[in-house]
Amino acid sequence: MGNDYFKPTEYRLRCLACGKEFTEDNHLLVCDADHGPAFLRAEYGEKQLTVHEEASGMFRFGDWLPLRRPIENSALPVAYKSEGLASHLGLSNLWIVFSGYWPERSADMRTCTFKEQEAPPVCSRLASNDKTLVLASAGNTSRAFAEICSANDIPLLMVVHEAGLGCMWSTKPFSDSVKLVAVTGDADYFDAIHLSGMIASLPGYVPEGGAKNVARRDGMGTSVLAAVTTAGRIPDHYFQSVGSGTGGISAWEAAERLRADGRFGNVGMKLHLVQNHPFTPMTDAWNHGSRELLPMDEAEARRRISQINAHVLSNRRPPYSVKGGVYDALADTGGHMYSVTNAEAQLAAWFFEETEGIDLTPAAAVAAGALKKAIERKTVKTYDMVLLNVTGGGQKRLFAEHEIHRLEPHITLRRDEISEEAVQRLFA
Ligand SMILES: [Zn+2]
Repeated sequence: MGNDYFKPTEYRLRCLACGKEFTEDNHLLVCDADHGPAFLRAEYGEKQLTVHEEASGMFRFGDWLPLRRPIENSALPVAYKSEGLASHLGLSNLWIVFSGYWPERSADMRTCTFKEQEAPPVCSRLASNDKTLVLASAGNTSRAFAEICSANDIPLLMVVHEAGLGCMWSTKPFSDSVKLVAVTGDADYFDAIHLSGMIASLPGYVPEGGAKNVARRDGMGTSVLAAVTTAGRIPDHYFQSVGSGTGGISAWEAAERLRADGRFGNVGMKLHLVQNHPFTPMTDAWNHGSRELLPMDEAEARRRISQINAHVLSNRRPPYSVKGGVYDALADTGGHMYSVTNAEAQLAAWFFEETEGIDLTPAAAVAAGALKKAIERKTVKTYDMVLLNVTGGGQKRLFAEHEIHRLEPHITLRRDEISEEAVQRLFA
Protein backbone atom coordinates (compact mmCIF):
# COMPACT_ATOMS: atom_id res chain seq x y z
CA MET A 1 0.00 0.00 0.00
CA GLY A 2 1.87 3.07 -1.20
CA ASN A 3 1.11 6.71 -1.64
CA ASP A 4 1.27 6.76 -5.43
CA TYR A 5 -0.62 10.00 -5.50
CA PHE A 6 0.36 12.77 -3.11
CA LYS A 7 0.00 16.51 -3.36
CA PRO A 8 0.76 18.99 -0.55
CA THR A 9 -2.40 20.93 0.27
CA GLU A 10 -2.85 24.62 -0.29
CA TYR A 11 -4.22 26.13 2.94
CA ARG A 12 -3.91 28.95 5.44
CA LEU A 13 -4.87 29.22 9.11
CA ARG A 14 -7.29 31.76 10.54
CA CYS A 15 -7.88 32.71 14.18
CA LEU A 16 -11.56 32.40 15.13
CA ALA A 17 -11.30 35.23 17.68
CA CYS A 18 -9.50 38.06 15.87
CA GLY A 19 -9.53 36.83 12.28
CA LYS A 20 -5.73 36.99 11.95
CA GLU A 21 -4.45 34.96 9.02
CA PHE A 22 -1.31 32.79 8.97
CA THR A 23 -0.02 31.69 5.58
CA GLU A 24 3.12 29.90 6.87
CA ASP A 25 2.26 26.79 8.88
CA ASN A 26 4.94 25.93 11.44
CA HIS A 27 2.72 23.58 13.41
CA LEU A 28 0.95 26.62 14.86
CA LEU A 29 -1.59 25.68 17.55
CA VAL A 30 -2.80 29.07 18.82
CA CYS A 31 -2.95 32.67 17.63
CA ASP A 32 -0.18 34.99 18.87
CA ALA A 33 -2.54 37.94 19.53
CA ASP A 34 -3.62 38.86 23.05
CA HIS A 35 -7.19 37.58 23.50
CA GLY A 36 -9.15 34.79 25.18
CA PRO A 37 -8.83 31.11 24.19
CA ALA A 38 -9.75 30.51 20.55
CA PHE A 39 -9.12 27.85 17.92
CA LEU A 40 -7.39 28.35 14.62
CA ARG A 41 -9.18 26.94 11.60
CA ALA A 42 -7.70 25.77 8.30
CA GLU A 43 -8.99 27.47 5.16
CA TYR A 44 -8.37 25.38 2.10
CA GLY A 45 -7.62 26.62 -1.40
CA GLU A 46 -10.14 24.17 -2.85
CA LYS A 47 -13.63 25.29 -1.88
CA GLN A 48 -15.22 22.27 -3.56
CA LEU A 49 -14.15 18.81 -2.49
CA THR A 50 -12.67 16.47 -5.09
CA VAL A 51 -12.45 12.89 -3.88
CA HIS A 52 -9.06 11.68 -5.17
CA GLU A 53 -9.73 7.96 -5.66
CA GLU A 54 -6.09 7.53 -6.73
CA ALA A 55 -4.81 8.58 -3.29
CA SER A 56 -4.38 5.99 -0.54
CA GLY A 57 -6.75 5.76 2.44
CA MET A 58 -8.16 8.95 3.91
CA PHE A 59 -5.78 11.07 1.81
CA ARG A 60 -8.40 10.84 -0.94
CA PHE A 61 -9.97 13.70 1.08
CA GLY A 62 -6.61 15.53 0.96
CA ASP A 63 -8.13 18.72 -0.48
CA TRP A 64 -9.46 19.40 3.01
CA LEU A 65 -6.58 18.07 5.11
CA PRO A 66 -3.44 20.13 5.94
CA LEU A 67 -0.99 17.73 4.25
CA ARG A 68 2.70 18.48 3.82
CA ARG A 69 4.30 15.04 3.34
CA PRO A 70 3.11 11.54 2.39
CA ILE A 71 2.22 9.15 5.21
CA GLU A 72 1.79 5.39 4.76
CA ASN A 73 -1.01 3.24 6.11
CA SER A 74 -3.85 5.70 6.45
CA ALA A 75 -7.25 4.01 6.68
CA LEU A 76 -10.68 5.21 5.72
CA PRO A 77 -14.02 5.34 7.59
CA VAL A 78 -16.78 3.46 5.79
CA ALA A 79 -20.30 4.90 5.36
CA TYR A 80 -23.44 2.95 4.49
CA LYS A 81 -27.22 3.16 4.83
CA SER A 82 -28.50 1.06 7.70
CA GLU A 83 -31.26 -1.50 7.27
CA GLY A 84 -31.20 -3.61 10.43
CA LEU A 85 -30.79 -0.95 13.12
CA ALA A 86 -32.91 1.51 11.11
CA SER A 87 -35.80 -0.92 11.04
CA HIS A 88 -35.38 -1.75 14.75
CA LEU A 89 -35.51 1.97 15.63
CA GLY A 90 -38.20 2.85 13.08
CA LEU A 91 -35.97 5.25 11.13
CA SER A 92 -36.27 5.40 7.35
CA ASN A 93 -33.01 7.23 6.55
CA LEU A 94 -30.35 6.17 9.04
CA TRP A 95 -26.72 6.23 7.90
CA ILE A 96 -23.78 4.79 9.74
CA VAL A 97 -20.17 5.87 9.39
CA PHE A 98 -17.96 3.17 10.82
CA SER A 99 -14.34 3.41 11.97
CA GLY A 100 -12.90 0.05 12.84
CA TYR A 101 -12.44 -3.50 11.61
CA TRP A 102 -15.18 -5.04 9.50
CA PRO A 103 -13.85 -6.98 6.50
CA GLU A 104 -17.27 -7.50 4.84
CA ARG A 105 -17.67 -3.73 4.59
CA SER A 106 -14.01 -3.15 3.61
CA ALA A 107 -13.37 -1.37 6.91
CA ASP A 108 -9.75 -2.04 7.82
CA MET A 109 -8.92 0.42 10.58
CA ARG A 110 -6.81 -2.01 12.61
CA THR A 111 -6.81 0.06 15.81
CA CYS A 112 -10.64 -0.10 15.80
CA THR A 113 -10.94 3.60 16.62
CA PHE A 114 -11.64 6.76 14.62
CA LYS A 115 -8.58 8.25 16.31
CA GLU A 116 -6.72 6.54 13.49
CA GLN A 117 -8.09 9.34 11.28
CA GLU A 118 -6.27 11.97 13.37
CA ALA A 119 -2.76 10.56 13.25
CA PRO A 120 -2.01 10.60 9.48
CA PRO A 121 -2.83 14.29 8.87
CA VAL A 122 -1.15 15.33 12.15
CA CYS A 123 2.04 13.49 11.12
CA SER A 124 1.82 14.83 7.57
CA ARG A 125 1.35 18.42 8.79
CA LEU A 126 4.41 18.08 11.04
CA ALA A 127 6.51 17.89 7.85
CA SER A 128 9.74 16.54 9.46
CA ASN A 129 11.03 14.12 12.12
CA ASP A 130 13.33 16.69 13.76
CA LYS A 131 11.36 16.69 17.00
CA THR A 132 9.53 14.02 19.00
CA LEU A 133 5.77 14.36 18.88
CA VAL A 134 4.27 14.29 22.40
CA LEU A 135 0.69 13.44 23.23
CA ALA A 136 -1.44 12.48 26.19
CA SER A 137 -4.31 10.10 25.75
CA ALA A 138 -6.97 8.13 27.56
CA GLY A 139 -5.59 5.21 25.53
CA ASN A 140 -7.22 4.96 22.11
CA THR A 141 -5.59 8.11 20.67
CA SER A 142 -2.17 6.76 21.67
CA ARG A 143 -2.92 3.40 20.09
CA ALA A 144 -3.83 5.14 16.84
CA PHE A 145 -0.77 7.41 16.83
CA ALA A 146 1.49 4.48 17.75
CA GLU A 147 0.13 2.53 14.77
CA ILE A 148 0.78 5.33 12.27
CA CYS A 149 4.09 6.50 13.76
CA SER A 150 5.32 2.89 13.87
CA ALA A 151 4.47 2.35 10.21
CA ASN A 152 6.26 5.58 9.23
CA ASP A 153 9.15 5.51 11.79
CA ILE A 154 8.09 8.87 13.23
CA PRO A 155 9.41 9.68 16.76
CA LEU A 156 6.49 9.66 19.22
CA LEU A 157 6.21 9.86 23.01
CA MET A 158 2.83 9.00 24.52
CA VAL A 159 1.68 9.62 28.09
CA VAL A 160 -1.14 7.33 29.24
CA HIS A 161 -2.71 6.84 32.68
CA GLU A 162 -3.09 3.34 34.07
CA ALA A 163 -6.73 2.76 32.98
CA GLY A 164 -5.62 3.41 29.39
CA LEU A 165 -2.60 1.08 29.31
CA GLY A 166 -4.69 -1.91 28.23
CA CYS A 167 -5.48 0.07 25.04
CA MET A 168 -1.88 -0.10 23.84
CA TRP A 169 -1.96 -2.92 21.31
CA SER A 170 -1.49 -3.50 17.59
CA THR A 171 -1.76 -6.29 15.04
CA LYS A 172 1.85 -5.46 14.07
CA PRO A 173 5.03 -5.20 16.17
CA PHE A 174 5.78 -1.64 17.34
CA SER A 175 8.77 0.26 15.94
CA ASP A 176 11.47 1.67 18.23
CA SER A 177 10.36 5.17 17.23
CA VAL A 178 7.40 5.00 19.64
CA LYS A 179 7.81 5.32 23.42
CA LEU A 180 5.16 4.89 26.12
CA VAL A 181 5.15 6.68 29.49
CA ALA A 182 2.69 5.39 32.11
CA VAL A 183 1.26 7.56 34.92
CA THR A 184 0.09 5.43 37.84
CA GLY A 185 -1.06 5.96 41.44
CA ASP A 186 -4.79 6.66 40.93
CA ALA A 187 -3.98 8.91 37.96
CA ASP A 188 -6.55 9.92 35.35
CA TYR A 189 -6.45 11.40 31.84
CA PHE A 190 -5.93 14.89 33.23
CA ASP A 191 -2.71 13.77 34.97
CA ALA A 192 -1.48 12.39 31.64
CA ILE A 193 -2.27 15.72 29.96
CA HIS A 194 -0.39 17.57 32.71
CA LEU A 195 2.76 15.44 32.40
CA SER A 196 2.74 15.51 28.60
CA GLY A 197 2.58 19.31 28.70
CA MET A 198 5.71 19.42 30.87
CA ILE A 199 7.60 17.06 28.55
CA ALA A 200 6.46 18.85 25.40
CA SER A 201 7.91 22.15 26.64
CA LEU A 202 11.45 20.66 26.67
CA PRO A 203 13.77 21.20 23.67
CA GLY A 204 13.50 18.44 21.08
CA TYR A 205 9.79 17.81 21.66
CA VAL A 206 6.67 19.20 20.03
CA PRO A 207 3.17 19.00 21.53
CA GLU A 208 0.61 17.27 19.36
CA GLY A 209 -1.90 19.89 20.50
CA GLY A 210 -5.15 17.93 20.78
CA ALA A 211 -8.24 19.83 19.68
CA LYS A 212 -6.07 22.89 18.95
CA ASN A 213 -4.38 21.03 16.10
CA VAL A 214 -6.31 21.72 12.86
CA ALA A 215 -4.91 18.50 11.36
CA ARG A 216 -6.44 16.47 14.14
CA ARG A 217 -9.85 18.07 13.77
CA ASP A 218 -9.93 17.89 9.99
CA GLY A 219 -8.73 14.27 10.14
CA MET A 220 -11.72 13.41 12.32
CA GLY A 221 -13.94 15.38 9.98
CA THR A 222 -13.31 12.80 7.25
CA SER A 223 -16.08 10.70 8.87
CA VAL A 224 -18.58 13.34 7.77
CA LEU A 225 -16.85 13.71 4.37
CA ALA A 226 -17.07 9.95 3.79
CA ALA A 227 -20.74 9.85 4.80
CA VAL A 228 -21.83 12.87 2.77
CA THR A 229 -19.92 11.94 -0.40
CA THR A 230 -21.49 8.45 -0.17
CA ALA A 231 -25.04 9.56 0.66
CA GLY A 232 -24.96 12.62 -1.61
CA ARG A 233 -26.27 15.09 0.99
CA ILE A 234 -25.58 16.58 4.43
CA PRO A 235 -27.54 14.74 7.15
CA ASP A 236 -30.15 16.51 9.32
CA HIS A 237 -28.72 14.99 12.51
CA TYR A 238 -25.33 13.74 13.66
CA PHE A 239 -24.80 11.49 16.72
CA GLN A 240 -21.48 10.93 18.47
CA SER A 241 -20.20 10.25 21.98
CA VAL A 242 -17.70 12.79 23.27
CA GLY A 243 -14.94 13.00 25.89
CA SER A 244 -13.08 16.10 24.73
CA GLY A 245 -15.76 16.94 22.17
CA THR A 246 -13.18 17.30 19.41
CA GLY A 247 -15.09 14.87 17.20
CA GLY A 248 -18.23 16.97 17.51
CA ILE A 249 -16.37 20.17 16.65
CA SER A 250 -14.74 18.43 13.68
CA ALA A 251 -18.07 17.15 12.39
CA TRP A 252 -19.51 20.67 12.58
CA GLU A 253 -16.53 22.16 10.71
CA ALA A 254 -16.66 19.48 8.01
CA ALA A 255 -20.43 19.92 7.54
CA GLU A 256 -20.01 23.69 7.21
CA ARG A 257 -17.32 23.22 4.52
CA LEU A 258 -19.66 20.86 2.68
CA ARG A 259 -22.48 23.38 2.94
CA ALA A 260 -20.21 26.07 1.44
CA ASP A 261 -19.26 23.59 -1.32
CA GLY A 262 -22.89 23.92 -2.45
CA ARG A 263 -23.44 20.46 -3.97
CA PHE A 264 -24.61 18.62 -0.85
CA GLY A 265 -27.55 20.73 0.31
CA ASN A 266 -27.91 23.74 2.55
CA VAL A 267 -28.56 21.80 5.75
CA GLY A 268 -27.19 22.94 9.12
CA MET A 269 -26.33 19.48 10.50
CA LYS A 270 -27.65 19.34 14.07
CA LEU A 271 -25.16 17.92 16.58
CA HIS A 272 -26.34 15.33 19.12
CA LEU A 273 -23.38 14.75 21.45
CA VAL A 274 -23.38 12.14 24.16
CA GLN A 275 -21.55 11.51 27.44
CA ASN A 276 -21.43 8.46 29.69
CA HIS A 277 -23.37 8.87 32.97
CA PRO A 278 -22.34 9.74 35.69
CA PHE A 279 -19.38 11.68 34.18
CA THR A 280 -21.15 14.26 32.02
CA PRO A 281 -19.53 17.71 32.45
CA MET A 282 -20.46 19.03 28.99
CA THR A 283 -24.02 17.63 29.08
CA ASP A 284 -24.56 19.27 32.48
CA ALA A 285 -23.20 22.63 31.34
CA TRP A 286 -25.15 22.62 28.07
CA ASN A 287 -28.41 21.65 29.80
CA HIS A 288 -27.86 24.56 32.22
CA GLY A 289 -27.40 26.93 29.29
CA SER A 290 -23.86 27.62 30.50
CA ARG A 291 -20.88 28.50 28.29
CA GLU A 292 -18.58 27.52 31.15
CA LEU A 293 -18.28 24.02 32.61
CA LEU A 294 -20.00 23.80 36.02
CA PRO A 295 -17.65 23.52 39.01
CA MET A 296 -16.87 19.98 40.12
CA ASP A 297 -14.21 19.18 42.69
CA GLU A 298 -11.40 16.87 41.68
CA ALA A 299 -12.30 14.02 44.03
CA GLU A 300 -15.89 14.00 42.75
CA ALA A 301 -14.72 14.01 39.13
CA ARG A 302 -12.37 11.08 39.77
CA ARG A 303 -15.14 9.18 41.58
CA ARG A 304 -17.52 9.63 38.66
CA ILE A 305 -14.89 8.74 36.06
CA SER A 306 -14.23 5.47 37.89
CA GLN A 307 -17.88 4.49 37.27
CA ILE A 308 -18.05 4.89 33.47
CA ASN A 309 -17.45 1.99 31.08
CA ALA A 310 -16.35 4.25 28.22
CA HIS A 311 -13.02 5.29 29.80
CA VAL A 312 -12.00 7.21 26.69
CA LEU A 313 -14.79 9.72 27.42
CA SER A 314 -13.15 10.92 30.64
CA ASN A 315 -11.64 14.32 29.81
CA ARG A 316 -12.01 16.70 32.78
CA ARG A 317 -10.96 19.81 30.79
CA PRO A 318 -12.64 19.50 27.39
CA PRO A 319 -12.50 22.43 24.92
CA TYR A 320 -16.08 23.39 25.67
CA SER A 321 -16.05 27.16 26.17
CA VAL A 322 -13.11 28.05 23.86
CA LYS A 323 -14.06 30.13 20.79
CA GLY A 324 -14.86 27.57 18.08
CA GLY A 325 -15.27 24.80 20.66
CA VAL A 326 -18.09 22.48 21.71
CA TYR A 327 -20.42 25.20 23.02
CA ASP A 328 -20.19 27.18 19.76
CA ALA A 329 -20.71 24.01 17.68
CA LEU A 330 -23.86 23.12 19.64
CA ALA A 331 -25.19 26.68 19.62
CA ASP A 332 -24.59 27.11 15.89
CA THR A 333 -26.42 23.90 14.98
CA GLY A 334 -29.21 24.04 17.58
CA GLY A 335 -27.70 20.88 19.02
CA HIS A 336 -28.50 18.58 21.95
CA MET A 337 -26.47 16.78 24.60
CA TYR A 338 -27.31 13.46 26.21
CA SER A 339 -26.36 11.36 29.18
CA VAL A 340 -26.34 7.58 28.65
CA THR A 341 -25.80 5.03 31.44
CA ASN A 342 -23.55 1.98 31.17
CA ALA A 343 -26.62 -0.26 31.09
CA GLU A 344 -28.28 1.78 28.31
CA ALA A 345 -25.07 1.69 26.29
CA GLN A 346 -24.68 -2.08 26.73
CA LEU A 347 -28.23 -2.67 25.57
CA ALA A 348 -27.69 -0.43 22.53
CA ALA A 349 -24.47 -2.29 21.68
CA TRP A 350 -26.29 -5.61 21.91
CA PHE A 351 -29.03 -4.42 19.53
CA PHE A 352 -26.43 -2.96 17.17
CA GLU A 353 -24.55 -6.25 16.95
CA GLU A 354 -27.79 -8.20 16.50
CA THR A 355 -29.11 -5.93 13.73
CA GLU A 356 -25.93 -4.75 11.96
CA GLY A 357 -23.55 -7.63 12.68
CA ILE A 358 -20.52 -6.06 14.33
CA ASP A 359 -19.45 -5.31 17.92
CA LEU A 360 -19.09 -1.74 19.21
CA THR A 361 -16.50 -0.22 21.53
CA PRO A 362 -17.97 1.16 24.79
CA ALA A 363 -17.80 4.77 23.52
CA ALA A 364 -19.62 3.94 20.28
CA ALA A 365 -22.24 2.09 22.33
CA VAL A 366 -22.84 5.30 24.31
CA ALA A 367 -23.62 7.14 21.06
CA ALA A 368 -25.96 4.37 19.90
CA GLY A 369 -27.76 4.61 23.26
CA ALA A 370 -28.59 8.27 22.65
CA LEU A 371 -30.24 7.57 19.31
CA LYS A 372 -33.09 5.74 21.04
CA LYS A 373 -33.52 8.63 23.51
CA ALA A 374 -33.68 11.20 20.73
CA ILE A 375 -36.42 9.24 18.95
CA GLU A 376 -38.40 8.93 22.21
CA ARG A 377 -38.01 12.67 22.86
CA LYS A 378 -38.95 13.40 19.24
CA THR A 379 -35.84 15.55 18.74
CA VAL A 380 -35.38 13.30 15.69
CA LYS A 381 -38.28 12.50 13.34
CA THR A 382 -38.53 9.02 11.89
CA TYR A 383 -38.06 10.24 8.29
CA ASP A 384 -35.10 12.60 9.02
CA MET A 385 -31.68 11.74 7.65
CA VAL A 386 -29.64 10.68 10.67
CA LEU A 387 -25.90 9.93 10.74
CA LEU A 388 -24.56 7.79 13.59
CA ASN A 389 -20.80 7.97 13.95
CA VAL A 390 -19.64 4.57 15.14
CA THR A 391 -16.30 5.79 16.41
CA GLY A 392 -14.99 2.32 17.16
CA GLY A 393 -15.97 -1.26 16.43
CA GLY A 394 -14.92 -4.73 15.37
CA GLN A 395 -12.40 -5.14 18.17
CA LYS A 396 -13.85 -8.45 19.33
CA ARG A 397 -13.69 -9.67 15.75
CA LEU A 398 -10.13 -8.38 15.24
CA PHE A 399 -8.87 -10.05 18.41
CA ALA A 400 -10.38 -13.35 17.29
CA GLU A 401 -8.76 -13.16 13.85
CA HIS A 402 -5.32 -11.59 14.45
CA GLU A 403 -2.28 -11.92 16.65
CA ILE A 404 -2.14 -8.97 19.07
CA HIS A 405 1.12 -7.27 20.11
CA ARG A 406 1.12 -5.23 23.32
CA LEU A 407 3.23 -2.18 24.08
CA GLU A 408 4.66 -2.09 27.61
CA PRO A 409 5.57 1.24 29.24
CA HIS A 410 9.19 2.36 28.75
CA ILE A 411 8.92 4.69 31.78
CA THR A 412 6.44 4.58 34.68
CA LEU A 413 5.83 7.57 36.99
CA ARG A 414 3.41 7.78 39.92
CA ARG A 415 1.11 10.79 39.95
CA ASP A 416 2.75 12.11 43.14
CA GLU A 417 6.23 11.77 41.54
CA ILE A 418 5.50 14.27 38.74
CA SER A 419 7.74 17.33 39.17
CA GLU A 420 9.90 19.66 37.05
CA GLU A 421 12.97 17.90 38.44
CA ALA A 422 11.70 14.42 37.53
CA VAL A 423 10.75 15.54 34.02
CA GLN A 424 14.20 17.12 33.47
CA ARG A 425 15.95 14.00 34.75
CA LEU A 426 13.93 11.52 32.69
CA PHE A 427 13.25 13.36 29.44
CA ALA A 428 15.66 16.29 28.89
ZN1 LIG B 1 -6.30 35.81 17.21
